Amino acid sequence: MEVKIKERLSQLFDEQKINCAIIFEKGTMPDKNAPNIIYNKEGLNNLVWNSMNWNNLANYLPKLLGKKIGIVAKGCDSRSIVLLMQEEKVKREDLYIIGINCTGMIDMKKIAKDFGAEISETIFEKDSVKVKGKASEKEYKVKDFLLESCQVCKYPSPVIYDEVLGEQVKGFEGDNYQDITEFEKLSSEERREYFYKELSGCIRCYACRNSCPSCYCQECFVDSNQPKWLEKGQNIDDIFFYHIVRAYHMVGRCVDCGSCQNACPMDINILKLTKKLNKDVRELYKYECGLDPKNTPALSTFEPDDYNEFIK
Ligand code: SF4
Ligand code: SF4
Ligand code: SF4
Repeated sequence: MEVKIKERLSQLFDEQKINCAIIFEKGTMPDKNAPNIIYNKEGLNNLVWNSMNWNNLANYLPKLLGKKIGIVAKGCDSRSIVLLMQEEKVKREDLYIIGINCTGMIDMKKIAKDFGAEISETIFEKDSVKVKGKASEKEYKVKDFLLESCQVCKYPSPVIYDEVLGEQVKGFEGDNYQDITEFEKLSSEERREYFYKELSGCIRCYACRNSCPSCYCQECFVDSNQPKWLEKGQNIDDIFFYHIVRAYHMVGRCVDCGSCQNACPMDINILKLTKKLNKDVRELYKYECGLDPKNTPALSTFEPDDYNEFIK
């Protein structure tokens, strides 16, 4: 896969079909890869493709508006591309999309916990990773340590592309909101208590916001001084306010890629909030985000004969 992606992007640079590309490179830590934007084919020397590429690369598209961009897109990245096209943050004609049939990404936080020692090297084979430390090594099957979103991913194959690599992958066929249905059975006090406990560890680093392709406002409400929506610091009410408002900004706009949760240094389950809203949107509007660029997003449309009084 890695060789094929390099070959294709190299050709695209030669043919001047693209003048930049969004790729993954090895990160500074052995258990993380890092997205990067390259502007010539020499940059491809550092390209890597393996099961640590969980970041949603569509995140970088709004910053490259007007450029001819090559992008490597898993199923979830491709759905974010569709959303960004709908919201006019990227033009289809400016993109060359190398779609990847995705077999899922590995949860390195879980692996690190299991390994129990500092990881000094990771070596990927086709469907496993060998993790090495100073005094020990262990091999893990990727399928046994998939990230939460990947375990229930309905669209692992790209929904939009110029060409696609890898064999078609079957999406998850069960109920991907089973956990939310269970959670909904709790009383409102129990749910509130859960979130207070879960979010009390949040340090408001905003890595969740920064890694989300749907969060592209030039000035986020958390950084605004006029009006000032919330204070700095660790007040739990401010933390709550940030998460609730961010989740509401995601209504009908979240592709459930899990990038926000994977980026969290405090291992906080923030997908619970966005997944609940995704489920509501699916049930109320029969709408799933990022499947068809010609569709109008759920909250950008209305019916003149809506039963709500305010619409008349
Ligand atoms: S959410 Fe789906 S497409 Fe995205 S990385 Fe996981 S399995 Fe792949
Ligand atoms: S990434 Fe985690 S710690 Fe940082 S703001 Fe988001 S939830 Fe809080
Ligand atoms: S809110 Fe999280 S899961 Fe949803 S699109 Fe953004 S990064 Fe992906």
